[in-house]
Amino acid sequence: MELTYECPECDASVRVPHAESGGNSTCPGCQTVRGHQGASALDLEGLKHCMSCGTEDLYLQKDFPQGLGLVIVVVGFAISTVFWYYRMPLWSYAILLSSALLDLVLYYRVPDVTICYRCLSQHRGPGARPDGRFRGFDLAVGERYRQERLRVEEHRRRKSASG
Ligand SMILES: [Zn+2]
Ligand SMILES: [Zn+2]
Repeated sequence: MELTYECPECDASVRVPHAESGGNSTCPGCQTVRGHQGASALDLEGLKHCMSCGTEDLYLQKDFPQGLGLVIVVVGFAISTVFWYYRMPLWSYAILLSSALLDLVLYYRVPDVTICYRCLSQHRGPGARPDGRFRGFDLAVGERYRQERLRVEEHRRRKSASG
């Protein structure tokens, strides 16, 4: 299973390819070493809780590169306006329709990634999505953890301002 987390020191994203074996990982940005849980975060069915912080509240999200869907739609729209300009409306519609379809197909083909509500660590690969254990993003739960992150951030700012 692959674990991806954001370094709390420098915000670089750190990838741990075989996280289930546990141990430490080093941030490529600032060399901060950070430990994570390995097999103890798993049971027979797979992931139990976040490998970084142990939180049991995790959600599933399509592992779809951000912005890719938008790029497809925008490019499709641009091409279709060219056909529209040359008075070929059928082609124009066909391009629009197929870019929307491509978007849809891609969306259903990409696997889910399991994300921690608290620290936003991402878990990918075999065992990261045990059947029926985690669900899609829940606004109420997400908001609770977002508030918590804001408070932690605020606390850190005050501490560094006074120290
Ligand atoms: Zn770092
Ligand atoms: Zn976490």
